[in-house]
Amino acid sequence: MKDCLFCRIVSGEIPSKKVFEDDQVYAFEDINPQAPTHVLIVPKKHIRDLKDAKAEDAQLIGVCQLAAAHIARQRSIEDGYRTVLNVGPRAGQSVFHLHVHLIGGRNMQWPPG
Ligand code: AMP
Ligand code: ZN
Repeated sequence: MKDCLFCRIVSGEIPSKKVFEDDQVYAFEDINPQAPTHVLIVPKKHIRDLKDAKAEDAQLIGVCQLAAAHIARQRSIEDGYRTVLNVGPRAGQSVFHLHVHLIGGRNMQWPPG
């Protein structure tokens, strides 16, 4: 998707601070971090959002979550972190390429805002 910001980040056309990569997912530092750790994990395949995801994408979405767990372990923030997947503008989704936020390294409130 040539007009998609995160596809362009995955391809390297737009620079990012890479955190992790495998054949299915790419993870990088959020440009506007909301916590000491704020990493975005995106599938390399363009999926617009969770409501657009198909049954065949289930494994890939799970891989994004497990990549978040892997990064959290590496960063020693396993005493508390959150994985967040915003869906739709009212939930704050601003980039329409599905992504999981990994947020941690500080105390967090519940419920989220
Ligand atoms: P969301 O609001 O859930 O769609 O999340 C989009 C996230 O992408 C926000 O947290 C932004 O700070 C982040 N973001 C936007 N542009 C970039 C970029 N070029 N590099 C890294 N993160 C970005
Ligand atoms: Zn995309």
